[in-house]
Amino acid sequence: MKFFNIISKTKFLKSPMGDLGGRLFNLFLLLFITVSVSSNAQTYETQFTKPLGKVLQEIGTRFNVKIKYDVDTVGKIVPYADFRIRPYSVEESLTNVLTLFDYKFAKQDEKTYKIKTYEYPRRTPEDGKKFLTYLNTLYKDQTQWNARKTCLQKEVREKLGIDPILLKRVKSKPILSKVRNFNGYSVQNFAIETLPGLYVCGSIYNPLSKGKHALILCPNGHWADGRYNKDEQTRFGTLARMGATCVSYDLFGWGESELQVTYTAHRTSAAHVIQIMNGLSILDYMLTRKDIDAKRVASNGGSGGGSQVVLLSVLDNRFTAACPTVSLSSHFDGGCPCESGMPVSLACGGTNNAELMATFAPKPVCVISDGKDWTASVPELEYPYLQHIYGFYNAEKNVSNVHLPTEGHDFGINKRKAVYDFFISTFSLDRSKLDESKVTIEAKEAMYSFGAKGEKMPVNAIKSFDQVEKYFNKKTDAKIHSDIDLEKRAQTFVDSLHLNDKEKSARIKAVITKHMKAVRDWHNEHPYTLVPEGINPITGAVFNKIHREVIINSTKPALVHEALMTGLRKDLTEAQVEKILDLYTIGKVAFTMKGYRAIVPNITEKEETYILTQLKLAREQAVDYKSMKGISTIFEIYKDKCEKYLNENGRSWKQMYRDFTNKIKAEKEAAKKAGAEKK
Ligand code: ZN
Repeated sequence: MKFFNIISKTKFLKSPMGDLGGRLFNLFLLLFITVSVSSNAQTYETQFTKPLGKVLQEIGTRFNVKIKYDVDTVGKIVPYADFRIRPYSVEESLTNVLTLFDYKFAKQDEKTYKIKTYEYPRRTPEDGKKFLTYLNTLYKDQTQWNARKTCLQKEVREKLGIDPILLKRVKSKPILSKVRNFNGYSVQNFAIETLPGLYVCGSIYNPLSKGKHALILCPNGHWADGRYNKDEQTRFGTLARMGATCVSYDLFGWGESELQVTYTAHRTSAAHVIQIMNGLSILDYMLTRKDIDAKRVASNGGSGGGSQVVLLSVLDNRFTAACPTVSLSSHFDGGCPCESGMPVSLACGGTNNAELMATFAPKPVCVISDGKDWTASVPELEYPYLQHIYGFYNAEKNVSNVHLPTEGHDFGINKRKAVYDFFISTFSLDRSKLDESKVTIEAKEAMYSFGAKGEKMPVNAIKSFDQVEKYFNKKTDAKIHSDIDLEKRAQTFVDSLHLNDKEKSARIKAVITKHMKAVRDWHNEHPYTLVPEGINPITGAVFNKIHREVIINSTKPALVHEALMTGLRKDLTEAQVEKILDLYTIGKVAFTMKGYRAIVPNITEKEETYILTQLKLAREQAVDYKSMKGISTIFEIYKDKCEKYLNENGRSWKQMYRDFTNKIKAEKEAAKKAGAEKK
């Protein structure tokens, strides 16, 4: 490990031979280390090191097992390697070795072990059992559980970062397609603008029956063909025929969303937040419709769609039922960044999807699980745990589990039957209409809102993920706010000129805003620390922070300042330009001049002219500083010049200043006395 720290550090060493030379040097170092490691004697001095690849090979041979791996073992060194081997246990030996790295092993059969990299969202069923046992010690009754639930509901929002994003949403009417009528139901495509220019597209499966319908939000999982998948269409059509309005919508970066942000955007933490925002935005819209019964609102999704069901259920109490399918587990949070990209499972000191689903108690929930994925443990672990929490409300009957031990990870007919049964009983759907064969499977193009080639995409639609990312960047957030502040400030400057000329005002505002932003950005990118600490060769004083700031600022491109001055002079009189500069420097010229007039007895016209000229120079230089401190420092420099001038022309600044302060003191005392006498 030590050796590789050395190598990584050498990356930062600038080689006098340039880049190529540096690489050669690193290569040489690597060779040197590799040679020195492999020729290491097995002694205390060399920490008995062996390369990881060799150690694994030896473990395989010793225990007569096959060790498979696609993890990177190159350059990985195991100190005290042979001492980590336990002759009686291959698993303990592997644990002792792999614990040094972010690796773990999985037993594939009696003779095969697979080495894997650590996966933060995935644990073992044993871990799940321990986790639930631990959680059960935290709450013994409904009161204690409610306290935990309050914490979870709050911290899940924070960990997901959903609220700042919800605030950035736009309010606009959904774009709706023509309605396509089928046997007992209809389908209509929609596109809802969420963040400015970002759309979520989907299809609404509506019953043909009159009156208010139950609503089932159907977030999609990572199924082949996404929401256009035959299993998905079949489920939505069948539920709609029985009386529930189903809304199916794309994953972020899938389906029509791919047109906007491409598929790579899906594998980001932003997908975790955006998919939940999409769900909540669709819910907002659907609940404005007169054909929806707000008392019957559910979500149902499989796999990654099930992960969304859990989050939606935690975040929004408008849901009255939930059905996570082949997804809910205490030991797996979902392996895609759209399920675990944000640290939701760290809420309240650590949680998992089983506990998060429990926050839904006592409202009806049905967990559908199978025997061949991470939901295989549901009957033994997660379901009894949920029943226990529902027991706090005497509502055990409201939580159910349909477990399909011989089945795998899909949304096949038996899972769909379980979904139908749950919603027939929970939402009083019409079982007599249950007939999947009556559903029409549409071509995916028919289900597009933006047309087969995206030709109907709105003009304001964003076309790259970069344009979405900015909503997640706190730095950008701060910049947006700062931009707003600067524009406001520039506006007050312009207003003070009372120009009565809209176009001119706009031009002046633009010049000032551009300058302010350039100054801010330049300062932010050029901290004073870029100037090394040192000693002023003239005064012998050590440079302080503000000196260093002045030095770094002197390297700012002259253009920044020139653009401001030329821009102002193009439209304004010299007096108006001065007014703007005074606003930048909060009237420091007049204020300081007043001070000199008070301190210098019988100040001459020549003296005044000199001082005023200097202060105006200070002012023009100070406008390029972001902070008040910087502005003051510039004035101090010019004030020093003025005082030097006075000293060189028959005045003593020290004496005048002393006389002035004494005079002020005397006046104050006199005023005090007078005040006391009056009393
Ligand atoms: Zn995903």
